[in-house]
Amino acid sequence: MTSDANLRESATPDTAWQDDVRAGVRHVRDLASLPLSPAERAAAQEAAASHKVRIPKAYLDLIDWSDPHDPIRAQVIPSPDELIAAEGELDDPIGDHAFSPVPRLTHRHADRVLLFPTYQCAVYCRFCFRKESLTSIGRGYTREALEPALAYIAEHPEIREVILTGGDPLSLPDAALAEIRARIEAIPHVRLLRIHTRVPVALPSRITAGLVGALQGRLMVTVVTHFNHPREITSRAEAACRTMRQAGFVLLNQSVLLKGVNDRVEVLEELCSELMYRLGVKPYYLHHGDLARGMAHRRTTIAEGQALVAELRQRLSGICNPTYVIDLPEGGGKVPLGASHIEGREGETWLIRGQDGKLRTYREVVG
Ligand SMILES: *Cc1c(COP(=O)(O)O)cnc(C)c1O
Ligand code: SF4
Repeated sequence: MTSDANLRESATPDTAWQDDVRAGVRHVRDLASLPLSPAERAAAQEAAASHKVRIPKAYLDLIDWSDPHDPIRAQVIPSPDELIAAEGELDDPIGDHAFSPVPRLTHRHADRVLLFPTYQCAVYCRFCFRKESLTSIGRGYTREALEPALAYIAEHPEIREVILTGGDPLSLPDAALAEIRARIEAIPHVRLLRIHTRVPVALPSRITAGLVGALQGRLMVTVVTHFNHPREITSRAEAACRTMRQAGFVLLNQSVLLKGVNDRVEVLEELCSELMYRLGVKPYYLHHGDLARGMAHRRTTIAEGQALVAELRQRLSGICNPTYVIDLPEGGGKVPLGASHIEGREGETWLIRGQDGKLRTYREVVG
């Protein structure tokens, strides 16, 4: 990025988000001003050593401090439970590293790659499945660091989708995003740019005309947001999503199923319907809790998740329903966990349970 680009950026009027960052929690020491419990206070320093603390003001303001189990608080305030590593938990829960041929890139499915322009985020979620990488690598964006990954994409014509993830790609300056977008769109076989981000949730004021403009070009753009609770759906988040929709971006959401945050059907129902009907964001995935260290206290069982999504299917239309998936260890990928409706088969006749719970037969007739 040139110094000119920096100047242009700070001269734009769209800088309200910088106040949101400045007035938020930027370091663990900023937690001192918050009404934490003695146990949270004691845990904070130690927890921050393995996963940074950062909370923009807009997100901090959503916390109801009178509720010790507040679902917003649970996502960002370090808890003493984080310090307990359970047997079987993993540093790299979904096998990003094993499928990384060059730094800052993971290639597990032929047609799409993960690209990590930065290992920093606008907010640090306590349950993050990449917290180990964010802490051990931790670096931000530089042009040079991305060169091997861009060369790899150029050399692999089977790659059609580039997924910017991290870290949070939308924590980068507009000029850096424009540069990354231009480099990717210069590779002719790439068709879609996908961005996985928590910025529309935690720092919605950052979704400015300048940011959106930086991403517009030849490529189809899909933004996958990360809302976990209906209280995160605010008028600011609504404005951020409207800006992105009006720019022509396709908006999807992935949520993580978290005990004590969104593991009740009423909460998921409101989350998924408000995402679709208010924000115009299609619920895409509901992730079963992966095996990130220190997260046993936020994990549900798979059976609990299956019961929740079965009930959700009864209550909400198809477009409001996410697919419940587990991202398997060792790079097994994302696999649906929803209960199968197939109860049996005899030759060409399948026994399938309907949405009303009754068993029906379907006999295949193929010419
Ligand atoms: C999640 C993920 C993707 C994207 O998967 P979709 O099912 O297309 O959303 C791609 N590559 C890796 C390594 C992933 O973990
Ligand atoms: S924004 Fe994403 S990558 Fe960053 S801490 Fe939260 S879950 Fe992890």
